Amino acid sequence: MKIAVLGTGMVGQALAGRLNELGHEVVVGTRDPQATLARTEPDGMGNPPFKAWHGQHPGVGLATFADAAAASELVINATGGAATLSVLEQAGPDNLAGKVLVDISNPLDFSGGFPPTLFVKDTDSLGEQVQRAFPDTKVVKTLNTLNANLMVRPKDLGADSTVFVSGDDPVAKATVSELLTNFGHSDVIDLGDISTARGTEMLLPVWLRLMGALGTPMFNFKIVR
Ligand code: NAP
Repeated sequence: MKIAVLGTGMVGQALAGRLNELGHEVVVGTRDPQATLARTEPDGMGNPPFKAWHGQHPGVGLATFADAAAASELVINATGGAATLSVLEQAGPDNLAGKVLVDISNPLDFSGGFPPTLFVKDTDSLGEQVQRAFPDTKVVKTLNTLNANLMVRPKDLGADSTVFVSGDDPVAKATVSELLTNFGHSDVIDLGDISTARGTEMLLPVWLRLMGALGTPMFNFKIVR
């Protein structure tokens, strides 16, 4: 499948690399490809600049958000929550229309320091905001409740764990669930329509405190029943 991964951070890199490894044609989207490749400083988390990752993944393309979305059959949003609506506007409603949009973003507000708060919650979610802004696009919220490396290699934990999908379109959720299965996820729970993204986005305060308590991001939720 032709897939656009919007986002050059650790989530975008993890998704793009794994999808390419699984045989998909992948283009990463960014604001300005030249500027992104010209960066030489590590990111805010100390990760190497995008260019270093790209050099190790020559099969993955790099384009503007709009060009990446236009060339794809399925689009993944792996950009910061505060930038998500603006990025998708840059990607272009016409380039997203009719397509499945996998939304991994979280509505985190870091303006007050750490831990961040949620800029939308309880009665709305970022997933719903995206679906309302792009009504012709089939938004599926998933993978926002675990670390980037585990999103694409869940078996690295050595035990089965759970991921969730939220979305209004059953066929889109089936397509995304198949991708998740190909990553190695063995327990994919369909929570229901896109409003169920409220719950998974509100797991973030728990996730962030767990990371602090456990001293590692290498853990995941497991729903035992
Ligand atoms: P990130 O640093 O949150 O986002 C990087 C991307 O956001 C870049 O592509 C950047 O564009 C774009 N961006 C940032 N500010 C922008 C702005 N003002 N206008 C347009 N684009 C902007 O990357 P991340 O850590 O990989 O996280 C991606 C998303 O996944 C986030 O929503 C995060 O909450 C969620 N998430 C992350 C993890 C994790 O393990 N890190 C786990 C679960 C969910 P350029 O490429 O042009 O710089």
